[in-house]
Parts: sequence; structure tokens; C-alpha cells
Amino acid sequence: MQPLIDNARTFGQRPEEFARLAEGQSPQVLFITCSDSRVVPALITGARPGELFELRTAGNIVPPYASEHPTSEAATIEYAVEVLGVKDIVVCGHSHCGAVGALVRGDDLTAVPAVRDWLTHAAPRPSGAVEDPTVAEGVQNHVLTQVLRLRSYPFIDKKLADGQLSLHAWYYEVHTGCVLTHDASSDAFRAL
Ligand SMILES: [Zn+2]
Repeated sequence: MQPLIDNARTFGQRPEEFARLAEGQSPQVLFITCSDSRVVPALITGARPGELFELRTAGNIVPPYASEHPTSEAATIEYAVEVLGVKDIVVCGHSHCGAVGALVRGDDLTAVPAVRDWLTHAAPRPSGAVEDPTVAEGVQNHVLTQVLRLRSYPFIDKKLADGQLSLHAWYYEVHTGCVLTHDASSDAFRAL
């Protein structure tokens, strides 16, 4: 913790770099990814403050849309699309994902009931090679499911129909730094 505190103490010594941020934000992209500490969206994309609106959840799960039971995740997505007017949404899964790995393997999550219950939102359970430590196949299947889930959000469906929004499925390798994207024409993940 101490190195983080030390850095935070000196971080604000560049006021000229941040002053314009007081005027507001107009990010073009909503970036949805896992809470995993090895995934650093700004580092991967080179985004500066104000450029990337982020939603991080365990296993980058997008919960089902249900207007009668609003979720923090749906609120964040709605704000990004309807208020900020983002033009693109990226769902970025990653290799070695603990959440997706647990789903693929069917791990017993009795000891972490909140995690267990949250992961039920990932239905259908992603399939993939159980013995693969990267869980690449499982994560990629899972990311595509989350993109489909986004399409079921009414305000996203409308923006897609109007051509005002694009969705992207990414897969990030924590051990190489490489990013793959889903290519719809070949239905495969390929290098960006
Ligand atoms: Zn993860």
C-alpha cells in the first residue's frame, strides 16, 4: 500500500495537465472489463484522463437488463450511452480470468457466495478447455455472450439500429499484452 500512497502524494503536482478536466468529460468509449489488477485499460489503450469511461465487474459480466430491478452496471452503461453519448462499447475479457475459469471448471464457490451469485449472471456458462490455464476459449465465448447481453438493453438496441453505436469484443492476454478482437466475418478472434 505504501508505494501507492507515496505516488498519490505527488500525483497532483501537474495541475496544468488536469485543469481542463474541470470543464467536464466527453469520452467516446465505454470500456467494460474485469476487475482483475492485471488489466489496465488506460495502459492498454493509451487513453488519457477523460477519454475512457470504465465499467469493471468480476468477470466483466453485463447483467441482464431489468428496468424494475436497476443495477449499478446498467446505470453506468445507461449513463455512458444516453448522457455521455459514447460511440463505441468495448467488452474486454482477459486470459487467466479467475471468474471465467471458475465458471468453465464448475468450481465450488460456496465459500464466496456473493461471487457465486454474481457469476450466475454469466448464463449460459461459458464452455472451453478446462485444462487450459489461459481459459482463452472460455473467455472469448463469455465475452461474446456479454456483447449479446448489451444488445438486449433497449437503449443500446435503438442506438445500434440508428447506426450511432458500435460494439466490440476484445480478448486481452495478460502474459503477452496482446489484444485480439472478434472478427464477425470469420467468427474468430484475431489480432487488432
Ligand atoms: Zn477476470
